[in-house]
Amino acid sequence: MKCYFHNDNDAISTCISCGRALCQLCTKEHNNVIICTNSEFCTEKVNFEIKTFEKTQKSYKIYGFFFLIIGFFIFISAILDFIKGNIGGVMIQTLFMLMFASIGYTYLKK
Ligand SMILES: [Zn+2]
Ligand SMILES: [Zn+2]
Repeated sequence: MKCYFHNDNDAISTCISCGRALCQLCTKEHNNVIICTNSEFCTEKVNFEIKTFEKTQKSYKIYGFFFLIIGFFIFISAILDFIKGNIGGVMIQTLFMLMFASIGYTYLKK
């Protein structure tokens, strides 16, 4: 396969954004992905995708902390019930606490 921009050069890679075959001259590594050097469009598109990805990662972290905090409050309330001798309440709240903590943990791991 030949380079999209240079008919004489053999292609060594493919742009992740537009899928065109690229030679050594045209290949650019940008945030660990291969894109064409001479396309503003591809650079921008990849930048946009990375930004969107980072934003999603960030909101997963926020969800994760949110669930962990809820889990923590349930934990406090379970301790209070334990002090009061309400074992049934402690069991139910432990169950909820584990549920919220595991949801929070799953989000944080993403
Ligand atoms: Zn491209
Ligand atoms: Zn080329």
